Amino acid sequence: MRKYSIATLEGDGIGPEVAQATIRVLREACGDMLDFQMLEGGAGHYQKSGECLPEDSFTACRDADAILHGAAGIPGVVYPDGTEVGNDLHLRLRFRLDLYANVRPIKLLPGVTSPLRGFEGGGIDYVIIRENTEGLYASRGAGVLLRGEMASDTLVVTRKGTERVAEFAFNLARQRNGALRDGKRRVTVCDKANILRTYAFFRQVCDEVHARHPDVEIDYAYADAITVHMVKRPDFYDVIVAENMFGDIISDLGAATAGGMGISPSGEIGDHHALFQGAHGSAPDIAGQDAASPMATVLSGVMMLRWLAQRHGDARLGEAADRIEKASETVLGRGIAVPRDLGGDARCSEVATALCRALA
Ligand code: ATP
Repeated sequence: MRKYSIATLEGDGIGPEVAQATIRVLREACGDMLDFQMLEGGAGHYQKSGECLPEDSFTACRDADAILHGAAGIPGVVYPDGTEVGNDLHLRLRFRLDLYANVRPIKLLPGVTSPLRGFEGGGIDYVIIRENTEGLYASRGAGVLLRGEMASDTLVVTRKGTERVAEFAFNLARQRNGALRDGKRRVTVCDKANILRTYAFFRQVCDEVHARHPDVEIDYAYADAITVHMVKRPDFYDVIVAENMFGDIISDLGAATAGGMGISPSGEIGDHHALFQGAHGSAPDIAGQDAASPMATVLSGVMMLRWLAQRHGDARLGEAADRIEKASETVLGRGIAVPRDLGGDARCSEVATALCRALA
């Protein structure tokens, strides 16, 4: 029976707690199909060694079947230019392994209260695809700071980068069942094509890719306007594709409408590698207290299983993913173990225990 190696970076803050909880749940659902390889990395490791991502950790991530990450970052642990060391862990993996599609499902599960009145469990279900390797963040570490008087970073949009992320978005839309409101398969291009040439080019390339997918509707929204639509009519959306920074911003807004950062998963996916982590950071304010929600990381684990299942044609992993998702709906929907950020009082480890029981 094939086994899958999972390069695991627990990181800092709540990272180890949510990663350990997720490993327990994944083991319960998958038995010994997964082999977790624990690796060093993060801001704490940088403090000890001067390296955020040691080369042997990188090599292990590159050679593994998938990467699972808790979270990284410690307040005040920054590089000389003021940027955070913790973020650098997944940014390095993102760029070196070319993880160009950042997939952020926005799904309101049963038992989770949305701040949007009128939307209940199951009433929000769309996916944001954030371009992950270029856009405004492409120039990270390479912007210009001139004599303490001016600073600039360059917004980069390439044909290749846009084509592949748009292709990813249209292919995803074809695998889904369409928007909840009208059942239409739809890709919404989020940009500011009315203001900058880069975004007009992004839209033009998305249009060209759309020509290869006539069965999916294309729709456009300016980045400012979409923040209103995501609050007022989230059920209109099916798949949204956005430039890196816009995708970063709107996916946090989307997460807030579906229960917050503690329940929002993400997958950073390339053609050959993928990294899965909750959408939240290392939450230093609650670290080490067993108070975090493991749900975002657990649901990222579900995404990991589905990605592996598709890639290797292994139905067992897809079934395990379905079972964990169902267990999550049971545990939250019936109020068996509701984490604190969702209004309950369950500890991180208690949520993991409840998920394992529901699976068993
Ligand atoms: P980053 O810049 O890395 O995204 P951040 O400091 O902006 O990090 P988080 O670390 O995600 O943001 O924390 C934001 C808030 O959300 C904090 O109050 C934190 O306690 C809370 N939070 C984040 N993740 C969780 C979680 N898994 N469970 C419960 N609360 C969480």
